[in-house]
Amino acid sequence: MECGLLGEKLGHSYSPAIHKFLGNYTYSLYEKKPEELEDFLKNGSFSGLNVTIPYKKAVIPYCAALTPVAQQLGAVNTIVRKQDGTLIGHNTDYFGFSAMVKRSGLCLFGKKALVLGSGGASNTAVAVLKQLGMTTIVISRSGENNYHNLHRHTDAALIVNATPVGMYPNCGSSPVSLDYFSNLEGVLDLIYNPARTQLLMEAEARGLAAENGLWMLVAQAKESAEWFTGRHIPNEIISVIYRQLRQTMENIVLIGMPGCGKTTIGKLLAEKTGRDFFDTDSVIEHSAGMSIPKIFATKGENVFRSLETNAISQLGKRSGVVIATGGGCVTREENYSLLHQNGILIWLEREIDSLPILGRPLSQPGKLAQMYASRKPLYEKFADYVLSNNGAPEKTAFRILEKLEVSI
Ligand code: NAP
Repeated sequence: MECGLLGEKLGHSYSPAIHKFLGNYTYSLYEKKPEELEDFLKNGSFSGLNVTIPYKKAVIPYCAALTPVAQQLGAVNTIVRKQDGTLIGHNTDYFGFSAMVKRSGLCLFGKKALVLGSGGASNTAVAVLKQLGMTTIVISRSGENNYHNLHRHTDAALIVNATPVGMYPNCGSSPVSLDYFSNLEGVLDLIYNPARTQLLMEAEARGLAAENGLWMLVAQAKESAEWFTGRHIPNEIISVIYRQLRQTMENIVLIGMPGCGKTTIGKLLAEKTGRDFFDTDSVIEHSAGMSIPKIFATKGENVFRSLETNAISQLGKRSGVVIATGGGCVTREENYSLLHQNGILIWLEREIDSLPILGRPLSQPGKLAQMYASRKPLYEKFADYVLSNNGAPEKTAFRILEKLEVSI
């Protein structure tokens, strides 16, 4: 059976990895230009398709029939070819978004939701939320309700981001500030790369429910696979696939005092998991064309810290890599979200007497204890986990993998 994803530009899609778990069919990426669409849909050898931007509406005229959900939303994200060759259009985004809302655990009946954006995903979100008994307001750049009159909706309990704002590679931007919304209970962002958009990190920092779009992506794929294969797939598979993908995509980020073993442990972790390894100090030295001590001596610490934030901003956007940071990266608050957007931060603790000082500009005798005292609260603030690295590096690496439940 041949299935796949149809779109114009597919880049690095997660769909093949998801469908590997879902059925015994091949799953290809079909990148087609608009002028190739008709021939592909009429003569392509596929039995089932997922459809993404910009073809969810364009494929409708080629379908002999639509399911009621696809009809209601005016969008098709799944196509199945029947025995007689005709195409049936489905919409599994509805199930996907419903599953995402359910996962959030939010109790939404009778409350107000703001749905940002007015495209296809927004239509789906509005239909699901209305069905759950919410009042929905679409915020559109050109609509009556827009980003200049958000103060009309300070009573919103839920914000759904159905725009591409904050999506890789334009990480760090956010469609709205949460400052306006005193009744807010949760934020759902349909974006899944990065794992935590700026908007989700803002929600997280306020202790609100915050979900990215990965659960939706997996759930819609599960329902698509049911249509492709004609067999029921239990919902439990969604969490299995989600956990696996989440783990593969998450960066492992090591923080801690200079000389605590971040590079050694980082290389070991990369070796054991087959991930790429990056050391922010090496990236800085490479881009500046000089050693760290020389940068400190000729340009000063402030310039070094800016170079470091630049390096972190590039590395933090990546997925599924190991990153060893410089000991002082925690002194700039903005480095936290750059590292956290796709990463789990592990603080490697090592006894001060064991920390090396040679070639380390800020670790000179007598200063280490003082430095540790001032940085400890910052490491605590940045860290998701703390692990001691006083024994054998191999042991520390295994304990990290165990903690993160990363399979090797
Ligand atoms: P779309 O049809 O292109 O709609 C996106 C909407 O966002 C536009 O209609 C626009 O609404 C708004 N928008 C676009 N650029 C913007 C900008 N620079 N600033 C503010 N608003 C902007 O795309 P879509 O299919 O609805 O997808 C929207 C997002 O959801 C994408 O990030 C997509 O990856 C994600 N998605 C995720 C899943 C999943 O399974 N997790 C499924 C579907 C979609 P206005 O012009 O009205 O402002």
